[in-house]
Amino acid sequence: MNLILLGPPGAGKGTQAKRLEQRQGIAQVSTGDMLRAEVAAGSDIGIRADAIMKSGALVPDDMIIAMLEHRVRQTDCAAGFILDGFPRTVPQAEALDNMLGALGVALDAVIELQVDDAAMVERVAGRFTCARCGAGYHDSFHPPRAEGICDSCGSHDFKRRADDRRETVSARLEAYHSETAPILPYYSKQGRLHGVDGMADMDTVTAAIALILSRLASRVMTTN
Ligand code: AMP
Repeated sequence: MNLILLGPPGAGKGTQAKRLEQRQGIAQVSTGDMLRAEVAAGSDIGIRADAIMKSGALVPDDMIIAMLEHRVRQTDCAAGFILDGFPRTVPQAEALDNMLGALGVALDAVIELQVDDAAMVERVAGRFTCARCGAGYHDSFHPPRAEGICDSCGSHDFKRRADDRRETVSARLEAYHSETAPILPYYSKQGRLHGVDGMADMDTVTAAIALILSRLASRVMTTN
């Protein structure tokens, strides 16, 4: 199964993509994670992307399309993939269609996590993760049980994303509405777009996505 998860920063794409990766046995492809790895490695791409990401803007289409194309050709994507953070512009969506056409691969569904902007600033500006095991926390909604100690692995080392500052989150939300939201009608016209209430709790969102996927799977079985 090949899927796209859409939604503004903080909508829960990363969490749901990880759950789908485990349940469906498909690869999570996060362009944000790929770019952060390039920044950490100090590569040419990372050096170009770093300042753009810190400002909350989108990196140029040509850069991200080349990265994504290379990634979806890797063997772990052959069993299926879930795109988390791509496409983010109409040219990226068009490039993806061309790429998948050339690979002979179909896109099964585009799932939009529908959320409230004001709540997203609060969600994103307070989030942090354990630097050792990656467990996710939030200053107000989900602090560690013992202050400064990870519930999962006991580490004292936490990290916050450089672009999760309040001002940058607003810029990222603006980029979502001006550049990414226009791809919703693009996928709606293709009959691939499915909306899910992203304000519900994580397990409810996971169940709603599972229902969409099982309906799609049964539709495929009845048409075969
Ligand atoms: P994310 O982790 O998906 O929130 O992405 C973090 C940042 O990486 C974004 O704010 C952009 O600067 C950049 N980025 C990630 N994916 C893309 C993309 N598909 N197109 C352009 N910029 C991207």
